[in-house]
Amino acid sequence: MNFNKCERCGCFFVSDGNVCPSCAPKDNYEMSKLNNYFIENKQPITVNDLSYATGISKKNLTRFISGKNFNYKKQIEL
Ligand SMILES: [Zn+2]
Repeated sequence: MNFNKCERCGCFFVSDGNVCPSCAPKDNYEMSKLNNYFIENKQPITVNDLSYATGISKKNLTRFISGKNFNYKKQIEL
C-alpha cells in the first residue's frame, strides 16, 4: 500500500493525489478561486499580491502555480 503525505495538513493518506480526502475540497475551492481571479484580472501579479487578493496562503499558491493544471503561469510575476 502506498501512503501519500498531504501537502496541506501533513497527514498521511492512502488515496491518490497531493492532498488528503478532507483537504481536497479546500484545494478545489481555492483552485477555482485562483482561476476566477485570472479570468477577471489580466495584469501580471506577484505571488505576494495574489495571496493578498485571493486569501490563499503563499505556500498553497506556489503549489497550485507549479501544478500542471494551472493555465495562467504567464501572469505570475517573479
Ligand atoms: Zn490534508
